[in-house]
Amino acid sequence: VFSLGQNVIVIVPGANLLLNFEDLKRASDVICKAKVVVCQLEIIPAVSLEALKMAHASGVKTLFNPAPALADLDPQFYTYSDIFCCNETEAEILTGISVGNLEDAEKVGRMLLERGCKLVIVTLGAEGCMMISGDEPIPKHVPAGKVRAVDTTGAGDSFVGALAFYLAYYPDLSMEEMIRKSNCVASVSVQAPGTQSSYPYRKDLPQDLF
Ligand code: ADP
Repeated sequence: VFSLGQNVIVIVPGANLLLNFEDLKRASDVICKAKVVVCQLEIIPAVSLEALKMAHASGVKTLFNPAPALADLDPQFYTYSDIFCCNETEAEILTGISVGNLEDAEKVGRMLLERGCKLVIVTLGAEGCMMISGDEPIPKHVPAGKVRAVDTTGAGDSFVGALAFYLAYYPDLSMEEMIRKSNCVASVSVQAPGTQSSYPYRKDLPQDLF
């Protein structure tokens, strides 16, 4: 972790790469009856894609985070994700657009919509997020609050986890409001060291988030 809280991450996949299609079959009841299914790329991508397809076929909301990014991501990931949420690094690997400002993030969003995404969120660190969707093709910037970041490791997962929570428990909120609240949760996580250890408990968050 550098002095301004940015991080460099080493991934040790361990047991993750053992998760297989059989495991998905065994979990199909849970997957198909969930309110939201979150997938990313720390398991075998084909297994992750299959989970998205199972959820999609049952009308379950799918939230996909292409982390760690793959340049040759199977294009079906775009079409089977209700919400496609990437950070700046992932956005660049997927689209070739280096994201230095909001306009770049908007370009990424438009390109990913063209690839079949319904709604794209690009997280922008201290700047919050950009969102764009097929229904609302005018990009929106949802800023994060100003905080003193000590360690941003895991901020993206904190954001995605919070967003999944709001999708499941507060489905009637607007997407912009869900993102604003998820920014708040993630911005709390960057003010504490560590990854999981930096995630706040519900009781320690501002209660107007609930
Ligand atoms: P990742 O952890 O995947 O690199 P980001 O750095 O884009 O993802 O951060 C994800 C989210 O965490 C942001 O959209 C924002 O809500 C929050 N966040 C990250 N860094 C900061 C920061 N310095 N100040 C406030 N919020 C932050």
